Amino acid sequence: MTRAVPLEAPAFLAVLGRAVRLCCPRCGRTRLYRGAFRMHEACAACGLRYERAQGYWVGAIYVNFAATAAVALGAPLVLDWVIGLSLRRQLAVAIAAAALVPLIFFRYSRSLWLGLEFFVSETDERRERRLLRRRR
Ligand SMILES: [Zn+2]
Repeated sequence: MTRAVPLEAPAFLAVLGRAVRLCCPRCGRTRLYRGAFRMHEACAACGLRYERAQGYWVGAIYVNFAATAAVALGAPLVLDWVIGLSLRRQLAVAIAAAALVPLIFFRYSRSLWLGLEFFVSETDERRERRLLRRRR
């Protein structure tokens, strides 16, 4: 298989769309996961390594934590506002959300982290290359 790396850096919305679809952030042609929680090591189409360094996925844990906190704290409040839940039921909803959201969102948190980190590092590399060209 050819490993053609796209010349143009993808736009932020394109990278975000690929992250939501769990696809490679650089080319969008291959899936990130080969199982429920197992990722491919690299993109088969463009060769982008997904885990750049040891501890790379710590950022994904923050993404997952933010989503979990938003749902576990927000869902009981919204449900209370809409249908008037008792405090006990609000607590049950919050605990259920805190247990389930990290599992459900696991794949997306890694994909979103990968896409965000790819976009930022790609933008930095392009800026450095542009500065180097100007100095010459
Ligand atoms: Zn790719």
